[in-house]
Amino acid sequence: MKLASRIALIKPSPTLTIQAKANALKAAGRDIIGFGAGEPDFDTPLNIKEAAIRAIHAGFTKYTPVGGTDELKDAVIAKFQRDNQLTYRRSEIVISCGAKHSLFNVAQVLFEEGDEVLIPSPYWVSYTDIVFLTGAKPVVIRTRVGDGFKLQPAQLEAAITPRTRAIIISYPSNPAGVCYSRRELEELAAVILRKGIMIISDDIYEKIIYDDQPFFTLASLGDELKRISVVINGVSKSYAMTGWRIGYAAGSEEIVSAMTKYQSQNTSNPTSIAQKAAVEGLNGPQEGVGMMTREFQKRRDLIVERLTAIPGVTCLKPQGAFYVFPNVGSYYGRSFGEKVIRNSAEMATYLLDEANVALVPGGDFGHDDHIRISYATSIAQIEKGVERIRLALLKLR
Ligand SMILES: *Cc1c(COP(=O)(O)O)cnc(C)c1O
Repeated sequence: MKLASRIALIKPSPTLTIQAKANALKAAGRDIIGFGAGEPDFDTPLNIKEAAIRAIHAGFTKYTPVGGTDELKDAVIAKFQRDNQLTYRRSEIVISCGAKHSLFNVAQVLFEEGDEVLIPSPYWVSYTDIVFLTGAKPVVIRTRVGDGFKLQPAQLEAAITPRTRAIIISYPSNPAGVCYSRRELEELAAVILRKGIMIISDDIYEKIIYDDQPFFTLASLGDELKRISVVINGVSKSYAMTGWRIGYAAGSEEIVSAMTKYQSQNTSNPTSIAQKAAVEGLNGPQEGVGMMTREFQKRRDLIVERLTAIPGVTCLKPQGAFYVFPNVGSYYGRSFGEKVIRNSAEMATYLLDEANVALVPGGDFGHDDHIRISYATSIAQIEKGVERIRLALLKLR
C-alpha cells in the first residue's frame, strides 16, 4: 500500500520504543533495569485521582469546549500568575492532550515549507519530527559540553537567517538537565528581540529543578518577550500525570485561537475527567512536587557520582529534570567478542543485551557520544544498573 510521503519524514519516538522493548523483555522474564522511562516513577497523588473519580460519578463525561474548560483555563491562568508573574486571559490559553500535543499544534499553526526553526542540542527527540511534519526545516544548534550544553548568544545569532521563524527552547532540559540563569536568558533574549524571531518555550520540567535554583521563563522577562512567546507546559511531569494527557499553551489570542481551531478538527477537547484532575493538580496542595523533586535530587547526586567514577565516562551534573547524559564515547571502537561498538545505538543495544540495562542512545538527542539515563527509578535500581553498566564497559576490549 502506498503511504503518504509525510510519514516517511519521521521516526517512531526512540524513548517510547526503548521503553516498549524493555517492557517486552521484562514480560519474557529477563531481569531488566529500566533507565529509559521519560516519566516520574511516583504515583499520581491521591487528591488528583479522587478529583477524577468524583468527575466520573458526577457525570462530567461529555464533550467540553474544544480548548478546555473555563475552570481549567482559570487554574492555568492562576498558575502562570503565581509561578511566573505572567498575566493571561482565557482567550490566550488552550488546553491540549499533553504538552507534546500543544507543541505539535503550535508548530502546525506557525510553520510551513521554507521556514527554519532553531533547536539547540542536545534536544528532546520529538522537536525535530514535530517541525518536519509542518514542512519546515529544523536547524539544530549544537551546544558545547564546555559551555555546560548551554546555548551561547553568539551561536544563536549565527544560526538566524531571514527564513528563521522561531526557536524551540526547553529548560531544565531533557536529556541534559541544563538550566539557564536569568542573566543568561536576558543575553539570549536580546538576540531574539533584535532578530525578530518567535519563542516556543517548553517549560514542562519547570518544577523539577535542583539546588534551590529559581526558574524564569523567557516570556516573564518583559512585555515584548511575552508578546513573541508561546509558553508550553503541562501536568505530566510535575504531578506524575503522564497518562492523563493534559498539557497547555499560552500565547497571543491570534495564535491560541488558531491552535483551538486546528484542535477542533482533530482531537476536539482533551478528556473531560482528566481536565478535572488537572484542575486539582494545579489548584490543590503542592507538597507532592517538592517531595518528588527532593527525591530526584538525591538520585541525581548518587548517579552522577557513580557514573563519573567509571574510567573514561564524563557527565555534567544536571540542574533539573530526571535524566543524566553521560559521555561514553571513549568506549567506541572497542569490541565485545566479534562485535565492535561504534556509536550510541550500538552501545545501547550492547548494554541491553549484555548488561540487561535499558537506556536511550544519545544520537537520538543529537549527541552520539552520549547515552541518556533516566533516574526516575529507585536508588536500589540506580545502584544496580550503574554497576552493570560499569562492568559491561570494562569488559570491552
Ligand atoms: C515529557 C516531555 C514532554 C511531553 O509531555 P506530555 O505533556 O506528557 O505530552 C514535552 N517536552 C519534554 C521536553 C518532555 O520531556
